[in-house]
Amino acid sequence: MQFTDLGLSAELLRAIGEQGYTTPTPVQQQAIPHILAGRDLEALAQTGTGKTAAFVLPILQRLTNPLTSPLQKVTHTAPRVLVLVPTRELAAQVLESVRVYGAHTGLRSLAVFGGVGINPQIQTMRRGIDILVATPGRLLDHLGQRTVDLSKVQTLVLDEADRMFDMGFIRDIRRIIERLPKERQNLMFSATFAAEVRELAHTVLRNPAMVEVARRNAPAELVSHSVIKVDKEQKRDVLLHLFAAHGWHQVLVFCRTKHGADALSKKLDQSGVRSAALHGNKSQNARTRALADFKSGKLAALVATDIAARGLDIDSLPRVVNFELPNVPEDYIHRIGRTGRAGASGEALSLVSSDERIQLRDIERLLKREIETSILPGFEPQHTHSVPRPAAGRPPAQKPAQARTRSGTGERSGAPRPPRPARAGTGGAKPASHHSGQRHR
Ligand code: AMP
Repeated sequence: MQFTDLGLSAELLRAIGEQGYTTPTPVQQQAIPHILAGRDLEALAQTGTGKTAAFVLPILQRLTNPLTSPLQKVTHTAPRVLVLVPTRELAAQVLESVRVYGAHTGLRSLAVFGGVGINPQIQTMRRGIDILVATPGRLLDHLGQRTVDLSKVQTLVLDEADRMFDMGFIRDIRRIIERLPKERQNLMFSATFAAEVRELAHTVLRNPAMVEVARRNAPAELVSHSVIKVDKEQKRDVLLHLFAAHGWHQVLVFCRTKHGADALSKKLDQSGVRSAALHGNKSQNARTRALADFKSGKLAALVATDIAARGLDIDSLPRVVNFELPNVPEDYIHRIGRTGRAGASGEALSLVSSDERIQLRDIERLLKREIETSILPGFEPQHTHSVPRPAAGRPPAQKPAQARTRSGTGERSGAPRPPRPARAGTGGAKPASHHSGQRHR
């Protein structure tokens, strides 16, 4: 199927051509006809599938082509389309898509989110906009100050609905929806359809078309996963070692907390790895600058928290490192969705300490496979019973697997352990399986 088969206008086809897209992705093929027809839609599609264009293109078409798909032409300056997103970064990226795909339509768009001044948003809104992209909190601020008029909204998009739940936005969303006209088109995109997302879908969507697509880059297929077992307190040194040993130049590093991301970024920077932290406490300007510097190659590392990284789109990012595993296994999928995009292969490497064993097990369950595990010579973990054993007599591997790789059964074989310096910790006196060690916090 070609984009021309979807009945999109010449202006949109031109913008699509300028992006170099040749064929619509599966979610675009399935969703665009329903949206053009004015139907509500429930779509299960993750970041990386082309979901943004799947709703932006038909929305632009409906706004600009009243003959084929009439969204009422109004003289008002109030937005006719509202896209709700969970994070500022995603808001900025959706706005960018709206502007790129709508470059030849003359439509006006704006993103409103917190962390930046509200006044410029108010001024732009006064001049009139067609499409408003918003995070729930800032939109409620505007509603409270009566600086936005949602009475003309004809299409509502809930993007990354599952994430909105994770972030506790559901009440805000319901309050916003109460302010919208009853007659409208509703589109919901979500990476998962957990029970609460379904419940929201039932109350918001009317007779929706259903679209479900596999990830464009199924993580198990295009991304190579690996784990290095290491003690928590050694993780920074291991990361620095890896940067130095492999000359890494563009790595997205995930931490669990803002504080952890700040501390790690500082340490990397001090050690000569140019780095910035990306998290919710950073000003919007700092976040935008960090992302731009990372994309342009000025920074070798971007250290992010899960929420800040949500929706990031960085072309052909070669590598994601989980400095800490996420508590929620689905977040692992979101994290690695940043690499291996657009058909490129990617690498997801996790530094796993003994206290993260449960998270690792849950991730492996979700992936339905065991992740190859290794230890790095010189950084052998001490705080665990579940260290993968290098097989007896095996020569040390070279880079990039300077690490020794767990063999299928070797870790259970009781193979002799190489001598190591005495250190505090529980040591591996007896053979233990991968997941059977004690937890050390
Ligand atoms: P999304 O899932 O919306 O985050 O999109 C992921 C990436 O796919 C973005 O970089 C888009 O620019 C790109 N993309 C969207 N549609 C297409 C297409 N039909 N062909 C190639 N790339 C696309």
